[in-house]
Amino acid sequence: MVQNPVFINGIAFKEAVLDHALKTGRNIKQNRYDKAKIGFLCEGKGCSWRVYCSVSAKYPNKWQVKIMKKDHTCVPTGNCEMLKVPQIARLFVDKIKEEPDYFMPMKIEELVMEKWKINVSRPQCQHVWTKALRWIEREYDKQFGRLRDYCAEIRSSNENSSVELDCVENDDGIEVFKRFYVCFDILRRSWKETCMPLIGVDGCFLKSRMKGQLLVALGRDADNAIYPIAWAVIKVDLGLEEGEGYVMVSDRQKGLIAAVKRALPQIEHRMCVRHIYGNLKKNHGKKPDMKLKIWNLAWSYNEADYRANLRDIEMYDQDVYDDVMKSKPEKWCRAFYKLGPYCEDVENNSTESFNNSIGKARDKPFVPMLETIARLAMVRIAKRDVICSSHEGLCTPYVIEMLESLHKKASESMVRPSTNQTYESTTSNGCAHRVSLASRTCSCRRWEITGISCEHAYGVMLSKGLEAQDYVVHWFKTPIWRRTYAEGIVPLRGAKFWPVGPEPSIIEHVIPYQPGCKKVTKTDKKRKRGVNESP
Ligand SMILES: [Zn+2]
Ligand SMILES: [Zn+2]
Repeated sequence: MVQNPVFINGIAFKEAVLDHALKTGRNIKQNRYDKAKIGFLCEGKGCSWRVYCSVSAKYPNKWQVKIMKKDHTCVPTGNCEMLKVPQIARLFVDKIKEEPDYFMPMKIEELVMEKWKINVSRPQCQHVWTKALRWIEREYDKQFGRLRDYCAEIRSSNENSSVELDCVENDDGIEVFKRFYVCFDILRRSWKETCMPLIGVDGCFLKSRMKGQLLVALGRDADNAIYPIAWAVIKVDLGLEEGEGYVMVSDRQKGLIAAVKRALPQIEHRMCVRHIYGNLKKNHGKKPDMKLKIWNLAWSYNEADYRANLRDIEMYDQDVYDDVMKSKPEKWCRAFYKLGPYCEDVENNSTESFNNSIGKARDKPFVPMLETIARLAMVRIAKRDVICSSHEGLCTPYVIEMLESLHKKASESMVRPSTNQTYESTTSNGCAHRVSLASRTCSCRRWEITGISCEHAYGVMLSKGLEAQDYVVHWFKTPIWRRTYAEGIVPLRGAKFWPVGPEPSIIEHVIPYQPGCKKVTKTDKKRKRGVNESP
């Protein structure tokens, strides 16, 4: 057990003995309790193992082992009186913090047996669980109280960043959290200078003790991937529903949009078609074909297609049609997109990658969650910086893929020239369209909306031996892609180094933790979270 018989204090010595007891499965028992002397012996039948440690005369302020009989003549029995509630709680507190509904008393009992072959009772493990939760709560409260200091750390490390923290005073005069918003200056600037002027909002409900919602404002980079610009956490009241992967509380989204707009005026806010469909489904149930019809409408690049698809919905169901008209389709159909943002997505396609990146931070308690989001954004930018720096070619992979998908149709199209760089282009079985290379337009409107040539224009380029990537809007070119990721968030320091302000600390609005309120599903049990998972 002891290679170095000197310890910094009695507690360190005790821990070493406990470690030995766990490793060997022997029932070690303390037999000397003194301020300056501690002794243990083995309770095993006829065993002479014992150890005795006291304050050292030789090394000032150290403890030293004086007597040590280190061979057991007993066999392990599965008992260990040293292993009491606080000791077990210390062994499991980090695990319970991560997954309190998985590391329940029964599981703890099983694990102690599995790992150390030691019997502990169920009531003991119940005490362990509640004790560990109490420790965790206390730690969270302490962290939460320092939210203002966290804001100060952001401002001092990332100058000119906007951080807003709103609280309300409760009846006891204590400040209670209401809203947090952060926009790192470098994200705001990089987005403004290098990403198309389009913002989407994604969000999820928190899994921490406080009922709240995390909302993230996302831009699109030159590769059509999400770029986090700002995020907010808002305390919410009970009774709100979570939609299928997205948040349906539009007035709260407006709050973040308003905050973003203060920082970034003149942006267009498009609605997400999934959002619209979710509302329709509430009123009309899952009607066959309704989804396809709604999506077709959203996908219409031009008003002619839009009108045809709208008529189709009207014929299909008058009530659905009425609701569609009420939902302001000009907000979510491509045909009405302002030209300029060059993002053709009608749905927040980013949801999936949002959940895989920033969204997974929501499992954490409040302050660690905020730290994790900033960290994920920081690492995401750094990783993409590496990817785009090594990418060769005029345009981003998104464009290359898009052109590849159009290549077959384009190469089969019939092209007839006119004057002034205009052409008539007809894909097989398609309608004739008017393409102008000079103004970079096609009467199908797809080119103007996406910023990347449609199959008709691509057909013209192929027939003329022109390089399609030369005609792609600058937002999708490699140099601007690289600029987006050239600079990222300055790393934030840990809580110990946060500037301590004079303001009083604040508290969470907490719904008391209810054991077992969340059922542990099979996938939860299987899930193992990696420490260094990439965003
Ligand atoms: Zn023994
Ligand atoms: Zn076209």
